[in-house]
Amino acid sequence: MALSDTTEIHQFTCLDDNFGVLIHDTDTGTTIAVDVPDADAYEKALEQTGWSLTHILITHHHWDHVQGLGTLKRKTGATVIGPERSRLKIAEFDRTVEDGDDVRCGPYEIKAISTPGHTLDQISWYIASIKVAHTGDTLFSLGCGRVFEGDRDMMWSSLAKLMRQLPDDTTIYCGHEYTQANARFALTIDPDNADLKARADEVAALREKGAATLPTTMAKEKATNPFLRAGEASVAAALGMEGKSAAEVFSEIRMRKDNA
Ligand SMILES: [Zn+2]
Repeated sequence: MALSDTTEIHQFTCLDDNFGVLIHDTDTGTTIAVDVPDADAYEKALEQTGWSLTHILITHHHWDHVQGLGTLKRKTGATVIGPERSRLKIAEFDRTVEDGDDVRCGPYEIKAISTPGHTLDQISWYIASIKVAHTGDTLFSLGCGRVFEGDRDMMWSSLAKLMRQLPDDTTIYCGHEYTQANARFALTIDPDNADLKARADEVAALREKGAATLPTTMAKEKATNPFLRAGEASVAAALGMEGKSAAEVFSEIRMRKDNA
């Protein structure tokens, strides 16, 4: 049976607007957590699903992604893998990765894609066999992370790298439920984009029900996320930036979002 047939993914809310994600293989029992904003929420999710945690992947060092790590590792004995750049900051790492490294977690071969900008250590995790990626606080649905440690050129390079490396049918999970606010901003940048308008309506309906707007897909984000569309002539024109490079247009969009 294909790995995608035996994989189940459970996404749940942690803290106010963070996500917890569990990736489980029913065949081997392998269960992977991505980031640990809150150990209690993970323990509850593991109890509900009946899954035993075997691995924890970390995207970056921010407190709202690693706060529950010590407790969850102690209680489950899971192997913790995260960015080499944060090795000295995070005591719980059993293994660290750099750009392009592959790690094996049970039946899953998982690629570490370095995507700095929001933080310098940021890793996006990609499991090609099941077409799933977790982009941490780099790529959000209809948005991208704030640039704290890198610069805007670096963030654009990281997003462009994700567009190159993740096929359109990749299912994307990320660190936060920010989609509705992102949609409002996106419409100020790309107001004539019919796909974006449809997505904004869909997002409003989901939030109305209290449902999550993630996961998304690479194809959807390429069609609707203004940060990924910085290279489109229509987006440059809407900003009065005809002929400017994608990196320059991205930089302008990121600044407008920071000041929105
Ligand atoms: Zn962060």
